[in-house]
Amino acid sequence: MNDCCVSENRGKSFDLAVVGAGSAGFSAAITAAEQGAQVALIGHGTIGGTCVNIGCVPSKTLIRAAETLHQAGAAGRFAGISAKAHADDWRATVRQKDELVADLRRSKYADLLPAYNNISYVEGEARLAEGGVAINGDLIKAQRLVIVTGARPSVPSIPGIENVDYLTSTSALSLEALPKSLLVIGGGYIGAELAQMFARMGVKVTIVCRSQLLPAAEPEIAEALSGYFRDEGIQLKCGIAYKLTRQTDSGISLTVTRGDGRDETLTAELERLQELGQARFDATVADNLSSRNLSNALFAFVALLFVVIVGRLRRTVERGRSLVERLQRAFIARRRDIAGVEVGSVLLSSTRGASVGGDTHDAFTLDGRFAMFLVADVSGKGIDAAVDTALIKYSIRTLFVDDQDPGSIISRFARMYVASAEHAESFIALFLAILDLQDGTVRYASAGHEPAWAIFGQDVVSLATTGPIVSAALAPEFETRVLHLHPGDTLVIATDGLTESRDARGKMLGTAGVAVWLSELRGTPQADAEAIVRRIRRRSRRIKDDLAILIVRYAPRPLGGVSPQRTPLEVVAGR
Ligand SMILES: Cc1cc2nc3c(=O)[nH]c(=O)nc-3n(C[C@H](O)[C@H](O)[C@H](O)COP(=O)(O)OP(=O)(O)OC[C@H]3O[C@@H](n4cnc5c(N)ncnc54)[C@H](O)[C@@H]3O)c2cc1C
Repeated sequence: MNDCCVSENRGKSFDLAVVGAGSAGFSAAITAAEQGAQVALIGHGTIGGTCVNIGCVPSKTLIRAAETLHQAGAAGRFAGISAKAHADDWRATVRQKDELVADLRRSKYADLLPAYNNISYVEGEARLAEGGVAINGDLIKAQRLVIVTGARPSVPSIPGIENVDYLTSTSALSLEALPKSLLVIGGGYIGAELAQMFARMGVKVTIVCRSQLLPAAEPEIAEALSGYFRDEGIQLKCGIAYKLTRQTDSGISLTVTRGDGRDETLTAELERLQELGQARFDATVADNLSSRNLSNALFAFVALLFVVIVGRLRRTVERGRSLVERLQRAFIARRRDIAGVEVGSVLLSSTRGASVGGDTHDAFTLDGRFAMFLVADVSGKGIDAAVDTALIKYSIRTLFVDDQDPGSIISRFARMYVASAEHAESFIALFLAILDLQDGTVRYASAGHEPAWAIFGQDVVSLATTGPIVSAALAPEFETRVLHLHPGDTLVIATDGLTESRDARGKMLGTAGVAVWLSELRGTPQADAEAIVRRIRRRSRRIKDDLAILIVRYAPRPLGGVSPQRTPLEVVAGR
């Protein structure tokens, strides 16, 4: 293409002038140019003409779109197959059609012209003139002329049509919303294909025609097609005469005279705003539903994943917990019966997972004369705590073999601990009692550990702490205190999981509360230890702290029927 404007071509002489730049005009101009002719292609209106802009391309695009709906509906003909498709957003379908039209107009028409130097494209409405064509009064000379000005929709002469807001094929293909119903006047191929397209999009369609569907076709073809159309729900009113058409409140009415001479009034309803609104609302709901379903599905998937992961974590953590517990219990030597005492004990790890705390207890006898009873609570959790409980047990046992004074033992242990503790913040609370099995004398010392209780008959006496917690920072001297047990008297030593156990409202049991419980105990030491745990559980279903309980009842073999004198608590200085 070498030109675009009338003024530049004014008076110029061409071999050929082509009037009309539609598909026929382009074809004629290109063919002549390829033969070497100088061509003037004169276009008026949108370049490309009917086919690409308002004919074949847009109609076939929408027809193909409607076909997918139809095919989905037809899937049910086959056993075991179902499909659903909806025209959710007609406007979007029309937009997509417009984009395709613009693309093809550019690539199949406008972009072709620059390749032909001997075609001059002239924009304007051509009129025949002497020696060529006139465009806005300017003459373009041409020896030959091809007129390919196409066609436009013709309006049938029905009384009242001038007052009716009718659609043509062009405006129907650009509707912003689908109408509720449609009367298609004329059964030609364009009317027929658009009728079917709208029907497949869900519009109630009636085709009205004077003779038959596809009047230019063989009657058999028309009849067969009519059958298919009826199957698809399209109404056919053929063999009628148009009488009158009117605009009504809801759309259009068309009165026809049937072959039997009677009049029939047909109607077509335009889209109504509230219905449009409803359609959009429904579409939005459907959209939301599908996205909600998607997010539900995602949620379900994530939740499932979560459950699986948590399950696996729990199993891993449980394995850790049982490892630590086994480790802890491994260091609780099987408690052999100690002659002269009945012993009951409980060790509970309340915490979940591997964070088992460092509560522990121990009972050990030396030469059948002395028995050592230890309850301790080490800082830290898990494996570290288990190792520390092992350390304290075997350290205290070793020291006990050498020295039967609890204050002295704890003091020595504290010095060792200061020297060896790995973490500055580590600590151990402990209560150590050494019982002379022969006379019931109990020497005891406690490092920040309270409480312990002595039960003398019906009296429950709380044993105060005798020194600070053993810590990595401090190694003080611990004092030893002494008390005497009579047969049947009981020593109860527990970690703070007992006094600090809470009821459902969060109230702590406290030392006094424990004393009340202990005064009510009537069973063997083991039964009593278990009864205490049951009471804790009854108060609060979840035990919040680790717990070690050791209950020692003095039950010496009778020594000629003489029992040692009961004496008040006394303090013996520690070393
Ligand atoms: C809805 C619809 C669907 C169709 N589907 C198909 C199909 O599937 N297959 C098929 O083969 N055909 C189909 N057709 C028909 C096809 O579109 C036309 O046959 C074809 O476009 C005609 O091309 P044309 O070049 O002769 O005319 P047009 O494409 O109409 O081009 C004529 C051009 O001349 C211009 N013009 C008019 N007067 C003047 C003037 N005085 N000066 C300058 N320019 C002027 C017009 O503005 C227009 O641009 C369909 C038509 C319609 C309406």
